[in-house]
Amino acid sequence: TAVDMQLYTKITIALILGVAAGLVANAFDIDPLTRLLVTIEPIGTAWIRLITRVVVPLVFASLVVGTASLGDITKLGRIGSKTIVYYMATTAIAVTIGLVLSNVIRPGSGMSPEGLEALRSNYMAESASRVELAQDAPGLADVLLNMIPRNPVAALAGGDMLPIIFFAIFLGAAVSAIPKERRSHIVGFFDGLNEACMVMIHWIMKLAPYAVFALIGAVIARFGLDVLRSLLVYVVTVLLGLILHVAITYSAALKLLARRAPLAFYRKVRGVQLIAFSTSSSNATLPLTMETAEDELGIEKEVSSFVLPLGATINMDGTALYQAVATMFIAQVLIGDISLTVQFGIVLTATLASIGAAGVPSAGIIILVVVLEGVLAGSGIDPAAGIAMILGVDRILDMCRTAVNVTGDLTAAAVIERSEYEHALRGGSAR
Ligand code: ASP
Repeated sequence: TAVDMQLYTKITIALILGVAAGLVANAFDIDPLTRLLVTIEPIGTAWIRLITRVVVPLVFASLVVGTASLGDITKLGRIGSKTIVYYMATTAIAVTIGLVLSNVIRPGSGMSPEGLEALRSNYMAESASRVELAQDAPGLADVLLNMIPRNPVAALAGGDMLPIIFFAIFLGAAVSAIPKERRSHIVGFFDGLNEACMVMIHWIMKLAPYAVFALIGAVIARFGLDVLRSLLVYVVTVLLGLILHVAITYSAALKLLARRAPLAFYRKVRGVQLIAFSTSSSNATLPLTMETAEDELGIEKEVSSFVLPLGATINMDGTALYQAVATMFIAQVLIGDISLTVQFGIVLTATLASIGAAGVPSAGIIILVVVLEGVLAGSGIDPAAGIAMILGVDRILDMCRTAVNVTGDLTAAAVIERSEYEHALRGGSAR
């Protein structure tokens, strides 16, 4: 497997060293150390590029092979609808956890006005640019329409995940319909491509410890500890929500639906979580997520090759939970308490918004603008003012929510696989 015990240990040590170096530079204001850490950051960026380049061929090849080997389209339809229902349900639960915690802890009350004002003026310019980006974000209807690529090659070239998934399934289904001799050629080709991608992942993962150190060191060195102090209650609320979602929702899903021991499962996916945490990107983590599902968790390719790429794109429980807490926090600070009806609206918009968020760093805060606009509508308050308050701690929260996002994808793969297996036992289609 790509992350064996030894590599896992190395990545963990790199992470700890990176955090330590960053903290020392930051807390003691050691300028040369900060500069050094920022200078080596491109090592991390280069690594992210390396592993992200595997995403398109890997997803495409494994999905074509997975679909072609399914044999019948009804099975695909069944897996597809189950997956989407499961994704939406867990995301709605995540948002609800975020809302409940925000109501209980009330992170937005008792904030010092001066502290907030400082944050707001510090980050206002950056915040306005995020709000602008949100204006360009496609709505849900567009996201769905864009799934049918005008030009599949352009979708592949641009790395647009949903159209790629759609096209690969279409091709795979067609391949399963052609005569056997010719089918084996094309399946053999994509199988080989898929395997070569796995080899690339192994090679690239060997460099992961250096990348993790470079990425984390720079992030922490740049991070404002003062910002953390003034937003501590908000940060803790988000983190607590994320932990609860994994400990309760995922553990229950694993135990009851997937019939797997949660702790053993989490142990096997630690490497994926570490990489998601370090890169803040579900997409960049996807190659490792897929490899881990197959090699470590033993999940059938026909399930994982579909569930995981889809999940990296549309399933973001951590992001949705974060959006719920962030919205409540901002509302509590700027307009006071918000009604249950509006909160119910947050469940809907945050669940849908997380589908539209891409699996890349800080996608969540851009889409947050959409959720926020719904809540602040009519109050005359500029969403940018709200975003500015929380921007300073966003990277840290991004890392944590991304780790939860990929855990959710892997949990889903285990749940869906199990349900297919039970289906076979009950006399459904043969596995
Ligand atoms: N970075 C997250 C992800 O890739 C998305 C987000 O910003 O919440 O999963």
